[in-house]
Amino acid sequence: MVPFDFEPRTRIVFARGAVQRVGHLASGLDFHRVLLVADRGMVKAGHVAAVTKSLEDQRIDVLPYHHFAENPDTAMIEAGRKFAEPLRVDSIVALGGGSSLDCAKGINFVLTNGGSMHDYRGYGKARTPLLPTIGIPTTAGTGSEAQSYAVISDATTHMKMACGDPSAAVRIALLDPELTLTAPRHVTAMAGFDAIAHAVETAVTIRRTPLSDTFSHRAWQLLGDGFERVLLYPADIEGRAAMLLGAHFAGTAIEQSMLGAAHACANPLTARYNITHGLALAILLPHVVRWNAQIATERYAALMGSPRRRARDEDAAEALARRLEDFARVGGLAMTLSDGGVDEAAIPELAAQAAAQWTGTFNPRPFDAEGAVEIYRAAL
Ligand SMILES: [Zn+2]
Repeated sequence: MVPFDFEPRTRIVFARGAVQRVGHLASGLDFHRVLLVADRGMVKAGHVAAVTKSLEDQRIDVLPYHHFAENPDTAMIEAGRKFAEPLRVDSIVALGGGSSLDCAKGINFVLTNGGSMHDYRGYGKARTPLLPTIGIPTTAGTGSEAQSYAVISDATTHMKMACGDPSAAVRIALLDPELTLTAPRHVTAMAGFDAIAHAVETAVTIRRTPLSDTFSHRAWQLLGDGFERVLLYPADIEGRAAMLLGAHFAGTAIEQSMLGAAHACANPLTARYNITHGLALAILLPHVVRWNAQIATERYAALMGSPRRRARDEDAAEALARRLEDFARVGGLAMTLSDGGVDEAAIPELAAQAAAQWTGTFNPRPFDAEGAVEIYRAAL
């Protein structure tokens, strides 16, 4: 048997139009002065106005903060702390894609515990509990609202740091598929592929448990059903709901089983070539699945819905890799590393950086710089 310890810390409210209930939910948690962390796109889309109104209707003060960008870094977190410190907020609402949720968590760490993000690298380093937070994702992607980790880049090296604490988990995840309708097509595709990569990688890690498998497999089904649907019919609310819930479940799986070689290899590409996270995963993941095949075929077969397939059925990994390539094509993400400007000569250095990523240590096939070279070469 594989033991596990799972303590749900987050209430999940999943409904069409659920965003209108944020004021009531915040009031129930005794929020009085809220730091509303939302990227500028959320203002334009009208989501900030909707959330502000719902909170103010409950006589909750709203202090909005928008000064950050994609892949929030340590400098943006420090700016957020400086902004928030004199405001004496008692709570946070994080609204937007993964960047908004990570930024809100990052600010929460340094606002409540001082120091810099580097002090919280790893897990459980906060001495005082973080401020209670409501997380409202507007893309189906990172599933950050299901996790107690903030992923923050170092402003100098651009490498990602995972900073976790039990109290960094949001109190309520508000999942309203209507909010995802305004995402541009390429955002829907890249965020969606990220979520798919979470389902696939969590399903095979060395840390996976029967519980994480439950979330990985259900996430894969929901995302597999929804991905092509929302790209072909952007207004399909059932497809949007499947994607949002699938991304959340995949995020829950990460919390239990961590990720693997595709995320380890993707991070240096984002840091050095500015290749968006979801796009980097679309380039790499099919090759990682083939590279893992000798160890993980049976688990890939189970993910694909054939629990009775055995390791000798070598087709499962190849079938999965092809399905992932189909997803990338439909999403306009079918690319090679060369298309992304990566030169063969850069591979040894990228591989050294990939091998240093914590996340790679959970990959089912032992992953090191040599393995990273093989994966990058295959994706070139
Ligand atoms: Zn990811």
